[in-house]
Amino acid sequence: MMSFEAARERLLVDVPHLPAERVVLDSALGRVLAEALVATAPIPPFSYSAMDGYVLATRDLVGTGPWSLPVRGESRTGRPAPALEVGAACVISTGAEVPAGADAVLPREVVEAAAAGIRFEGKVRPGQHIRRAGEDLAVGAVALEKGSRLGPAALGLAASLDATEVVVARRPRVTILCTGDELRAPGSAKVPGKIPESNSAPLAALAGMAGATVRRHPHVGDDRDATEHAIREALADTDLLLTVGGVSVGDHDWVRPALEAQGVVLDFWKVSIKPGKPLAFGRHQGGTAAVLGLPGNPASALITFSLFGMPLLRAMQGDRAPAPSFVALPLAERLTHKPGRLEFVRVALAPREGRLSVVPFENQASGALTSLAWADGLALVPGEVETLDAGALVEVLRLQDL
Ligand code: AMP
Ligand code: MG
Repeated sequence: MMSFEAARERLLVDVPHLPAERVVLDSALGRVLAEALVATAPIPPFSYSAMDGYVLATRDLVGTGPWSLPVRGESRTGRPAPALEVGAACVISTGAEVPAGADAVLPREVVEAAAAGIRFEGKVRPGQHIRRAGEDLAVGAVALEKGSRLGPAALGLAASLDATEVVVARRPRVTILCTGDELRAPGSAKVPGKIPESNSAPLAALAGMAGATVRRHPHVGDDRDATEHAIREALADTDLLLTVGGVSVGDHDWVRPALEAQGVVLDFWKVSIKPGKPLAFGRHQGGTAAVLGLPGNPASALITFSLFGMPLLRAMQGDRAPAPSFVALPLAERLTHKPGRLEFVRVALAPREGRLSVVPFENQASGALTSLAWADGLALVPGEVETLDAGALVEVLRLQDL
């Protein structure tokens, strides 16, 4: 059985990158840059005032003040600045261009204004309240590295560089194939022994969060031929096939042999984690699809997909940081653990005595969706641990970071 770290390393090594495409900025949120975004113009493009007030040249201020200067002209936003008269100040608005030769802005609030001009005292520092051209980004500087995942502010940065489109990795195509004789569509007639299929919806949502487009294959019963047939169809035009259920050692678990019969070479099929021990990963030989065989228990399926599938989808897009980081947070209460596998414990994060603290849920069963639906994070409890005291730091993967 493979360790979590080893399995994830195997999964993320040498992942082939998807081809690049151009998308408009408005649909680029969450996408991964396939080439660096380089500043073709300085940011800011010209020196401007950060305050409403008066702009002047400090060389015109002799002595220690207070000073009086006449006011000549105005620099307004959206137009070129007027020339600065020697020995005078000029009215200026926030965002308006600083006239050539001027080097300081006096905020309106520190100035006494009268018909004859302005009066002020105190230190006037060259450069004050002026944002210099190129001070944020010089021409030729890298604004966003290749492999950056585009957040809202990155879209703003691209727009400020006049980009209307960005070059990103194409969205990975995910196909979901659920298996199990007991499954029926949610909302369909109740049948004794059957349960609503509840894994496709959350898996599609998680895959979408990782940038994928999702296709759902009709679910298949626990039958070898039907499973093989469905897998053959599902492998077509897919970058990642997710099978759900039927990957364990039961008499009716056909996914593993069916995958192998369809030319999928499995890299591993058991990982020493809880929940989610039966987890298969492989690649379709002769095709390009990667395959994750997820366990059917809902909490296991969603947690293993979050830990393995989402980083894999991000790696396919060339994401420089495909896996989310963990943060160390204190336990709100004592935690006991059966030594064995590394466990991902569903927890709430709640303020206790002024610190965000980790509160494990009671029901950690592999089939229990309640505690996962209510959870803020997964706390990582190493295999050898028996107890952890209240206040002990544990590594937590916040679900919002997925
Ligand atoms: P399996 O991995 O096929 O052995 O299934 C393990 C457990 O998960 C069983 O209790 C199944 O009924 C349940 N299960 C499997 N697939 C799904 C699904 N798509 N939706 C809800 N429960 C499922
Ligand atoms: Mg099953």
